[in-house]
Amino acid sequence: MPVLIVGSIALDTVKTPVEEHADLLGGSASYAAVSASFFTGAQLVGIVGGDFPKAHVEFFESRRIDLEGLQQVEGESFRWSGEYMTDMNVRETRSVALNVFEHFTPHLPESYRQTPYVLLANIAPSLQSYVLDQTARPRFVVADTMDLWITIAKDDLLALLKRVDLLILNDSEAKMLTGETNLIRAAEAIRGYGPGYVAIKKGEHGCLLFGDPSKQEFFSCPAFPLANLHDPTGAGDCFAGGLIGELARADEAEITFDALKKAVVSGSVVASFNVEAFSLERLRTLTNEDIDARRGEFRRISQF
Ligand code: AMP
Repeated sequence: MPVLIVGSIALDTVKTPVEEHADLLGGSASYAAVSASFFTGAQLVGIVGGDFPKAHVEFFESRRIDLEGLQQVEGESFRWSGEYMTDMNVRETRSVALNVFEHFTPHLPESYRQTPYVLLANIAPSLQSYVLDQTARPRFVVADTMDLWITIAKDDLLALLKRVDLLILNDSEAKMLTGETNLIRAAEAIRGYGPGYVAIKKGEHGCLLFGDPSKQEFFSCPAFPLANLHDPTGAGDCFAGGLIGELARADEAEITFDALKKAVVSGSVVASFNVEAFSLERLRTLTNEDIDARRGEFRRISQF
């Protein structure tokens, strides 16, 4: 089964304490679609300008990503620039230029409207809702979000959440959205807004998956121990893409908590590779054998 992915497609400039690179392929949908493509076919909905390099389009094509939903218009692509501090968990946004993204309306091609697995990668929640408006009720909807939307578009986000099966966000965002200081209570509050499942990312400390507490649906996924982190950008998007890709690949008759646990591990595996190099560079050479080997490592480090 294919996955439908909507989000940003960007040219990023990223600075770490040791390196700086400009005009890199980035954006939430780029990371998510390439990550999902290790598990299943992806349909990409986004917008780029005339300056978007052909090589990036060819890279998407080489990953079997369907680009019928990619709009290329006159003007400049969305640009984002971020800087990581000595503690790479701390990032500051240096600049954002919306450019063609400012007037983006994510129209779905007819051929995408029945796609059963949908990932609403990080963009404004009103646009995420608009994508759902154009679909037949998908089988499983995953949404990602960020602190910006909790601050400036909370009502839109709460409206969206009524239509989402799994919300992905990081620990500080979960606290910010709910006003809770405890992640267990935050997840329960978010489930009360609509999603049956909540995945809370904790950066280098892994991720928590919450389902129905009365069925003891709780899973703690470790992060892969990495000594050399080169660029954390897009880790969350790779996590989301790998997660939905794995769910769509399995396409089980019933989406069980066990299936979601496996999907969380798949997302974490791809994310752990992605941070080993800038932009999407590591995923260019990544193989499914590499993914399977690291999945084994995840299993080994979680057993006791
Ligand atoms: P992450 O590291 O998961 O926060 O994702 C970083 C990616 O998100 C970068 O490649 C950016 O181009 C993209 N990005 C940054 N700000 C936004 C925004 N406001 N809306 C959509 N995408 C964004």
